[in-house]
Amino acid sequence: MRETIGAVHDDEVEQLFKGLGILEDIMLERLVCGECQRTISLQNFRAITKRDGAFILSCNREDCFGKFAAGLQKEPR
Ligand SMILES: [Zn+2]
Repeated sequence: MRETIGAVHDDEVEQLFKGLGILEDIMLERLVCGECQRTISLQNFRAITKRDGAFILSCNREDCFGKFAAGLQKEPR
């Protein structure tokens, strides 16, 4: 059982999105996973980063998060 390890509680995710100023976008389902284009919600959110002024999100599919994490490591700066 590893589903609770590293998991972010819904409330924390909400605070995170609020801090980033994108909570409304999440609530209106305007943001999608950068890999599978699935709509990101508080429930399926896994990770976020900012690239070229735009937020890149990853849903909680291992596949998507794997590619997301690999993409971060390839960052030149
Ligand atoms: Zn995805």
